[in-house]
Amino acid sequence: MTEKSLDKRLQQRRRDGLYRSRRLLQSPQQPELQLDGRSMLAFCSNDYLGLANHPELKAAMHAGIDRWGAGSGAAHLISGHSAAHHALEEELAEFTGRERALLFSTGYMANLGVLAALTDRGDTIFQDRLNHASLIDGGLLSRARLRRYPHADLAVLERLLADTQSGRRLIATDGVFSMDGDLAPLGALARLAKAHDAWLMVDDAHGLGVLGEHGGGSLEQFGLDAAEVPILMGTLGKGLGSFGAFVAGSESLIEPLIQQARPYVYTTASPPALAEATRAALRIVQSEPWRRQRLAELIARFRQGAQQLGLPLMASQTPIQPIVAGAAATALAWSRQLETAGILLSAIRPPTVPEGSARLRVTLSAAHTDEQLDRLLDALAQLRPEGL
Ligand SMILES: *Cc1c(COP(=O)(O)O)cnc(C)c1O
Repeated sequence: MTEKSLDKRLQQRRRDGLYRSRRLLQSPQQPELQLDGRSMLAFCSNDYLGLANHPELKAAMHAGIDRWGAGSGAAHLISGHSAAHHALEEELAEFTGRERALLFSTGYMANLGVLAALTDRGDTIFQDRLNHASLIDGGLLSRARLRRYPHADLAVLERLLADTQSGRRLIATDGVFSMDGDLAPLGALARLAKAHDAWLMVDDAHGLGVLGEHGGGSLEQFGLDAAEVPILMGTLGKGLGSFGAFVAGSESLIEPLIQQARPYVYTTASPPALAEATRAALRIVQSEPWRRQRLAELIARFRQGAQQLGLPLMASQTPIQPIVAGAAATALAWSRQLETAGILLSAIRPPTVPEGSARLRVTLSAAHTDEQLDRLLDALAQLRPEGL
């Protein structure tokens, strides 16, 4: 009986154009990849700097396996916290200009860990309505009161803050919004947080390594320091091309997380070889600013080309460049049409984005060539204009 009701729900999903299926990747993550047995040109990874298949990351991981073995074998607080993890934490603290950094296995877990460890019943978490699912879920897990404000709406946030007199207050926001590509108004958020004695937490999954002259992310872009944004979460599987995440902040922020963040305490440490690969990525992020310059060139070139085609772009200056289709079925039809031209661009549909704003989410990588970008624009020019 139960399984029948599950089947029914799946059928409904199919009818709504919301059914999702996994494609089989048969090559490393790179612009020209092998998928389901054919060659495709992809514009949908988060490998913004082109590091996922970089020889230096691979060599560091190989050497890490020789030195440390395959698995960590234990949680950080038992015997799994290797010198490789520790060195990476120190390098991340230095890179972000903070006293300490703490590694988590994934960004999802980091967000759950921070929000649940720092807030409790009686506290209030304020979140942008377009925040990543992991921040929303962390808020639910924390048992604090959850107040969501319309996207980037500072006036509403200010009212909500003023209405909240008791308990701790924490404002959590994406730095770069993952499905729209726009930046949070971080300067204004920092001022509001200060005026209302609230913590500000920024999830910089899509900014770290990618934005700012030195790759310091959205905070560098806005010139904000650790006093203004005390809690910084960064992920390592996007711009940095490896895997995992970290939280960076003061000693008095990090030490309680080590003691109490359940997604930190009750899980096996990630493989030390992975930390070695991430250390290599961090060196490249700092020593090769050309990757960010190249991205900026591609972003400008894409936007200019897409505007000439009359495509509905969003106000994004980042490598995330959505083309809004509206109906899920339209986004899906576009994605299928592009696929016949050998271009992989997945349709993003509700509930990942709000109802009626299904889209193609173009992501650019420093690894894309001009010629590849032109192939994308040529294919976009062929889209049937339904919904445009
Ligand atoms: C991808 C992402 C995460 C989750 O990070 P993972 O390391 O992939 O678990 C969290 N927040 C945002 C904004 C993201 O885009």
